[in-house]
Amino acid sequence: MIIKRASSLGFCYGVRLAHKKVIEALNKYQRVNTLGPLIHNEREVKRLAQLGAIPINSLDEVNAPAIVLRTHGVRRDVLESAKKLAIKEVIDATCPHVAKAQNIANRFYLDGFRVVILGEIEHPEVQSILSYAPNAIVVSENLQNFNFDKGIVKKVGLLSQTTQPIEKLKILAARLVELSQELVIANTVCFATRKRQEAARELAKEVDAIVVIGGKASSNTKKLYLSLSSYNVAVYQVEGAMDLPLDLLKYERIGITAGASTPEWIIEEVESRLKSL
Ligand code: SF4
Repeated sequence: MIIKRASSLGFCYGVRLAHKKVIEALNKYQRVNTLGPLIHNEREVKRLAQLGAIPINSLDEVNAPAIVLRTHGVRRDVLESAKKLAIKEVIDATCPHVAKAQNIANRFYLDGFRVVILGEIEHPEVQSILSYAPNAIVVSENLQNFNFDKGIVKKVGLLSQTTQPIEKLKILAARLVELSQELVIANTVCFATRKRQEAARELAKEVDAIVVIGGKASSNTKKLYLSLSSYNVAVYQVEGAMDLPLDLLKYERIGITAGASTPEWIIEEVESRLKSL
């Protein structure tokens, strides 16, 4: 059996950075809180909890000397409240790409633009961006049909949730050109998700089956899995080696890819189990 990894897989830049900050905080304080699970990977969150990084759901539950704010970013008021806590340190692990989107939204807002955000309104990242541009409009679908309530708007500033497809941003931008006198577009799409999908599709041309590794709650892992659906390759989504089906034995060449929140140790676990089959 030949096993081949995708050229891009696993932790993205933002997740790697946040993870590093948690490990550094653990070395310093032995026990830290994360506001929500650090990443969408239950096994890694569990492992970190055993090391002392305990997820909490709200600032009222803080029970450690330091708190880590995760990659999606938090609302501005939550950040301010966290800074007022009687603890030793607030570690802001907001991904730099998300922080950039927050800053751009705020600049648009302060410069008097009508801010439009392409994204999912319930997503924590969009909620965090919204707090920097009050009254911004969030557009998630029906891109072509989008309309402002008052017809043409003078100044519009458009940006995107970092994980939205660039194609959607282009469609919305084209619509907004018709609805505004001045349109400024900030391309805040992060290419980590896209890069993993493209690498997986390349891999699909060279193998008979692909194993996609990632947590069940990880939407980018799900998107990675779905991005392979139109390819002539068998695709399996697993959380770890324990989920590998014996069915895989019938394939000669097997590819491996992993979502942006899948740690290297789980990728290695799957890889070595496949090698031993
Ligand atoms: S997917 Fe992109 S924006 Fe999101 S955490 Fe990773 S690097 Fe940052």
